[in-house]
Amino acid sequence: MKNTILIVEDETAIREMLTFSLMQSGYIVLPAKTAIEAFKLLDDVTPDLVIIDWGLPQISGLELVQRIRDNEVIADMPVIMLTARAQEEDKIKGLETGVDDYMTKPVSIKELQARIKAQLRRSSGFKKSHIIEVKGIKMDLDSHSILIGSHELSLSITEFNLLKLFMKNPNKLLSREQILNHVWGRNSFVELRTVDVHILRLRKALKKHNAEHMLKTVRGAGYKFSTS
Ligand code: CA
Repeated sequence: MKNTILIVEDETAIREMLTFSLMQSGYIVLPAKTAIEAFKLLDDVTPDLVIIDWGLPQISGLELVQRIRDNEVIADMPVIMLTARAQEEDKIKGLETGVDDYMTKPVSIKELQARIKAQLRRSSGFKKSHIIEVKGIKMDLDSHSILIGSHELSLSITEFNLLKLFMKNPNKLLSREQILNHVWGRNSFVELRTVDVHILRLRKALKKHNAEHMLKTVRGAGYKFSTS
């Protein structure tokens, strides 16, 4: 499967050059000019990696990283920051904010690609050993197994991904569009009511373990995984 990379860079020439060369290398590339554009895209998709220019207009690259780390759905995403020489001394600030790697402009494409590969390897290794636990439900992302208390819950891939999205966002209202985009991908041709169908299946599976009350319908708005 192709990895998706979000590029946030206001300089057209650099953005287009990066987009072109990463697409040539087989990545799906989402280009954004500003942090605002990036947020819009992030509402719909979870890229595998983000490349962010430090010097962006209005909202800086650093602030964008901060917001990514504060958002539970996308917090684990690897971030490579592009900096101008002048910002070199501030690198420490970036590391504290959660930047995974740096590259100083002008960017060597070959080096960037090597760094992207290293980050993707690292993050997939990290995800493999990742366990999410919410209110007695334990999800192992490596073995794709779920335990409710001591009982195993078996789910299809789609329901597993649905539950994962909910467990990563407890008590947060998720619209059907958001759910669709994160579970099926933004470019899928899936209809909104498909979301409802799979929610129903997930609820049925949870019911066997008396946990269906956690998956709440918020009328006209979407769904919420409630832990209260
Ligand atoms: Ca810039």
